[in-house]
Amino acid sequence: MLAGIEAGGTKFVLAVGPSPDRIIARHTIPTRTPAETLAEAAEWLAGRGGVSALGIGSFGPVELDRRSPKWGFITNTPKPGWADCDIAGWMGQRLGVPVGFDTDVNAAALAEHAAAGGGTGGLAYLTIGTGIGGGLVVDGKPVHGIAHPEMGHIYPRRHPLDTDFAGICPAHGDCLEGLACGPAIIARWGKSLSELPADHPGHTIIADYIAQACHTLFASLAVEEVVIGGGVAQTPGLVEKVAARARALDNGYLPGGARHRIIAPRLGGDAGITGALMLAEAALAEG
Ligand code: ZN
Repeated sequence: MLAGIEAGGTKFVLAVGPSPDRIIARHTIPTRTPAETLAEAAEWLAGRGGVSALGIGSFGPVELDRRSPKWGFITNTPKPGWADCDIAGWMGQRLGVPVGFDTDVNAAALAEHAAAGGGTGGLAYLTIGTGIGGGLVVDGKPVHGIAHPEMGHIYPRRHPLDTDFAGICPAHGDCLEGLACGPAIIARWGKSLSELPADHPGHTIIADYIAQACHTLFASLAVEEVVIGGGVAQTPGLVEKVAARARALDNGYLPGGARHRIIAPRLGGDAGITGALMLAEAALAEG
């Protein structure tokens, strides 16, 4: 049996199944202190019986370098109590199984890549929610450099109807996350994107920023597909608006542009937890 954890800042999704595409039990717990949350997660997973490997897709930042003594840690997060938390090591020791570990968005990208039949010429997964993050899979493998990608922190060009808002990223102000994540939308217009009237300019502005990010991914990574998940992305019509805007921004230039796809997750809300189970499967194969 494989076990998976999608470790988020507000909730942990737990699941077990004989394979990543067959979840037979799942459970969600609120994220509290690491001690409380990890203990409850371990207790539930151990109670399923017969778990042979664990995969964790985690909120970040995380340490993914296998040679680092801090591998498997959540590192310098501002989330109270969670900085320097050895999530993979603690869970692996408690359950006595090998652990696969990656970012939540790389896990989601892995699962979406598999759901696409594995044949895409590279896939990026963007989540637009409380923050903005991105994962990348090329040749079936999640991509890490010296760390994991932080696609939410690129700088988009300002939309002409959005010149007064300073942005909310503590580090960058008006980076993509600072302009287009859920809290940035509420900070500007007092409502979430899905609560704004259909003719509100916010829809066009946010779609433009996300489309610019997609264009950057197509242009810099030559991926075939960008999958857009997260709470903001569930705003009706947004993904279609982003796709149309990205085509307009490209203006027919990029090679392979006819094959570019910007879509909602094939797995819906299950991309992250399915990817966590894939990380477990890989950890089991590696021993
Ligand atoms: Zn930023």
